[in-house]
Amino acid sequence: MPPITEIAPQNNIQSQSPVEQKVPGTCPVCHLPVQSSYYFCPNCGAKLNMAPLSITSATQAWIYALSFILPWTVFIFIKWWPGIKYAKSHDPKTKQIGQIAWAILIISTLVTIWFAYVWTQNTIKSTINSINSDMSLP
Ligand SMILES: [Zn+2]
Repeated sequence: MPPITEIAPQNNIQSQSPVEQKVPGTCPVCHLPVQSSYYFCPNCGAKLNMAPLSITSATQAWIYALSFILPWTVFIFIKWWPGIKYAKSHDPKTKQIGQIAWAILIISTLVTIWFAYVWTQNTIKSTINSINSDMSLP
């Protein structure tokens, strides 16, 4: 019974996974030193960090509007909602936009539920009223 020597050498196994092997201060692809604030390696063009999320006022208006409308659409467009991505950002300004988007989403959800509740109650009430008026007819 020979010892297990047939296993191929595994020295290549960790050479090709550029996403997870991020060493701070060096490019994961070409291993040249880069600044942590870089989004792309200036040498080889590899993606280093998530590209900055847009924080223009137009983008903010879009995110907030979507956060406001989303509960009315029963969250059909939730995959378009970038609030999670923004709230997870390490950039404080971007993170703040995400948090505001979350707050609007939650408030709008509560308001929507409240409106739905009031509308349901009114419908029940008017139904009962119409039944009552039907019953009181001679
Ligand atoms: Zn590089």
